[in-house]
Amino acid sequence: MHKLNKNILLVEPDYYTRFPPLGLLKIGRYHMEIEKDRVGLVRGNEPKDNPDISYADDIEFNGEPDIIYVTSLFTWASKPVHDSIVHYKDLYPNSKILVGGLYATLFPKDAEKTGAKVLPGLFRKAENQKPLYELIDDVWDGSIIFSSRGCIRKCDFCAVPILEKGIHNVKYSIKSLVHKEHSRIIFWDNNILGAPNWKSIFDELQEIGLKVDFNQGLDARLINDEVAEKLSKLKMQFIRIAYDRQNMGKSVKNAIDKLSNYGISPRKIVCYMMYNFEDTPKDIFERIRKLLTWGAVAYPMRYQPVLDPDFSLKKNSYISPNWNKEQLQKIAEARRIVGFAGTFPPYNKLVERFNETSNFEELIFEKKSDENKLLDTTKKSTSNRLKNAKPRYNKKFDWRKTRKKR
Ligand code: SF4
Repeated sequence: MHKLNKNILLVEPDYYTRFPPLGLLKIGRYHMEIEKDRVGLVRGNEPKDNPDISYADDIEFNGEPDIIYVTSLFTWASKPVHDSIVHYKDLYPNSKILVGGLYATLFPKDAEKTGAKVLPGLFRKAENQKPLYELIDDVWDGSIIFSSRGCIRKCDFCAVPILEKGIHNVKYSIKSLVHKEHSRIIFWDNNILGAPNWKSIFDELQEIGLKVDFNQGLDARLINDEVAEKLSKLKMQFIRIAYDRQNMGKSVKNAIDKLSNYGISPRKIVCYMMYNFEDTPKDIFERIRKLLTWGAVAYPMRYQPVLDPDFSLKKNSYISPNWNKEQLQKIAEARRIVGFAGTFPPYNKLVERFNETSNFEELIFEKKSDENKLLDTTKKSTSNRLKNAKPRYNKKFDWRKTRKKR
């Protein structure tokens, strides 16, 4: 017989993430509104006595959880997921425990070792629910939306063509998915410009007037005058594009020029740059140098296979045949020492440095005094930015420490 008003505990394990657990929040809405259950959310492993649970509408559990949903994310962050399952199983031995999310979907056998039941892929019944932002509204102010899923391309280093395949789940309006108290909208579409709805979505965003972040990046090859003009009318802090291979240089330069023609400063363009795939250290150095001379910000991203059990379960374990450990360390050091927050911004000094040197080793060690100047600037800006952040949880710098910007 269907038991009414179940207690549903949503668990986000204690891994680093910059975004709240969207899947769990959708499941929360489904249970609250469709099943009329009580819903609570915890982060990490809370003690049984006095656990820090956020409840929807402040309606607390009457007893122990009936169902516990544990989410997962990066494949290399499986340990906190296993720890959470063990922890809550110990605490609530009579509850049903389900584990979903990216890691559990890609490595179900590994996730099953915990004894939890694996829910692979999307939880269909909840997919079209509006996330239950009420559970996190004291710390989070952005509506996360997929206006489409999938991609028109098949890049060989990317898991999207395998996991999502072509464009699907296309929405022509997203207004109803924007939480009324939020000040920004974050899109997680894999390739929004490749989807047939992009114009309707951009027009609607202009009308809504909130800040927008196309977080997964925009396809530089699809940025033409019409796209650039529409983007220039949106409130965006950054425009994210990718420059993963040398042969994309022409499209990237063209996108930067087009956006610039419509008044968007290249300094607002952040460019993801993959390395440690089929490239070489020289190749990524050259790409960054070119990008900086075009005035945009470089964000190097180390390639890691997503679907290979030999490498995917351990972060940064993959080393491409064209790279070695020392070379990978040098780029990481360069990002830390002469970069800013992991990026290489087009500061004049840094552009000069890239023009004068030919590899990351020289970049770090030459001109020590300039280096210290760059380091000082970086430290000052970082400390100013974080000074007023009010973390709710005294843990790592993740979404729960993100300041609300109202
Ligand atoms: S364009 Fe982007 S999302 Fe699409 S396959 Fe290539 S890397 Fe993946």
